[in-house]
Amino acid sequence: MARRTLVLGAGMVGVSIAWHLAQRGREVVLVDRREPGRETSFGNAGIIQREAVRPYAFPRDLKTLLGVLPNHRVDIRYRPFGMLHAATPLLRYWLNSAPKNYRHIVPEYASLIRCCLETHDQMIQAAGAGDLVRKDGFLELFRSQGYFDKRVKEAEEGRERFEVRFKALDREAVAALEPDIGEDVIGAIHWLDPWTVADPGDLVAAYARAFEAEGGQCLQDDVTGMTQTDDGWQVTTTTQTLEADDVVVALGPWAGRWLKPLGYHFPTFVKRGYHMHYAGEGDARLNHWVMDSEVGYLLAPMNAGVRLTTGAELDDLDAPPHLDQLASAEKVARTLFPLGERRDAETWKGARPCLPDMKPIIGPAPRHKGLWLAFGHGHQGFTLGPATGKLLAGMMENEQTAIDMAPFRADRF
Ligand SMILES: Cc1cc2nc3c(=O)[nH]c(=O)nc-3n(C[C@H](O)[C@H](O)[C@H](O)COP(=O)(O)OP(=O)(O)OC[C@H]3O[C@@H](n4cnc5c(N)ncnc54)[C@H](O)[C@@H]3O)c2cc1C
Repeated sequence: MARRTLVLGAGMVGVSIAWHLAQRGREVVLVDRREPGRETSFGNAGIIQREAVRPYAFPRDLKTLLGVLPNHRVDIRYRPFGMLHAATPLLRYWLNSAPKNYRHIVPEYASLIRCCLETHDQMIQAAGAGDLVRKDGFLELFRSQGYFDKRVKEAEEGRERFEVRFKALDREAVAALEPDIGEDVIGAIHWLDPWTVADPGDLVAAYARAFEAEGGQCLQDDVTGMTQTDDGWQVTTTTQTLEADDVVVALGPWAGRWLKPLGYHFPTFVKRGYHMHYAGEGDARLNHWVMDSEVGYLLAPMNAGVRLTTGAELDDLDAPPHLDQLASAEKVARTLFPLGERRDAETWKGARPCLPDMKPIIGPAPRHKGLWLAFGHGHQGFTLGPATGKLLAGMMENEQTAIDMAPFRADRF
């Protein structure tokens, strides 16, 4: 008889795991309180980031740290109480950002990133979702020669070590691709490998339909608890009790809190982010996804309009939204590209699920048979969902995985 598996959380990560397990003949129920892909996996910048072989480290130099202190920067904001509540994981993240630790993290992280295009491709084909995806990369824009040169140097290292492809563009070459971009831009890195998605939530929904086509079941219900039984697991929701041989926790930013009753205190924290859509002004057209690298926000020409996504806000997952970071980003963005009026009634808020060593947890729970974990994908969960799905499903089925999974084990915490 097929093993019955419950996957909790239908973001990019959970949907991808569910699809891979269904493909392997398992009986899978995917549970989420919302429809698939309506939370973090809905509101992101929609880039499948093959170039992101280096996870985001915290700044360590004094000048940048002093610049963060007044809390006026566009790329990073903090709320003192939120920082206090996450003090230990934040301190560990900062320590892991030191060169001696970070240089071990990069190749491990890159091993996962390298799987992203092939694994998305497999699911895009299965879902017939090719019309949502573009394959012409994105532009990282620069305003100062010094920073541009530094990033090109890093890009060259990425090319050498991890086969990342890019082109360095001068002002004229940028203007040829993006005629409406502001005068302050002096050059860009055109990252050639990444794919961009015109509606990230729709891509997750398409993957979920592909999962159903494999015989999987999507259940919209709120998970209220999980307990281990003699022969498997019981998961309670607001309306019923579900039984399974295996449970996969893919609850994104909410994962940590649901594992505490089982005795796991993972050092999870979040970097929150916001988005808003804008009409284009007049004939102005944005042809590519563009990252205003030195300021710290991104503009993405999506189906719903030009989506502005913000950098990180360090605060509690459930704290009310603070709209100042998006307002500051919008002010600068209007000088970069002629944005028209706002299109959404409310600013979208989400939270990148983070762990102190910048890598997700993917694998078995250390002390409970039949409990599997996949969360903490930080800035790149949209990119890494399908790779995670393939790798975790492979582990659950005792297959040889394409990469070494030791760096992603849960018992490292
Ligand atoms: C502004 C911003 C921009 C970003 N840009 C990018 C990008 O360009 N590329 C990239 O790769 N990544 C990006 N990210 C990161 C990426 O969005 C996340 O890493 C990823 O979406 C996490 O996916 P997930 O499936 O783990 O979590 P989620 O998508 O949040 O899924 C978790 C699910 O759990 C469900 N859930 C929670 N609690 C319960 C419960 N009690 N019962 C039932 N269901 C529950 C939720 O409803 C949700 O659907 C960005 C993030 C932000 C905030």
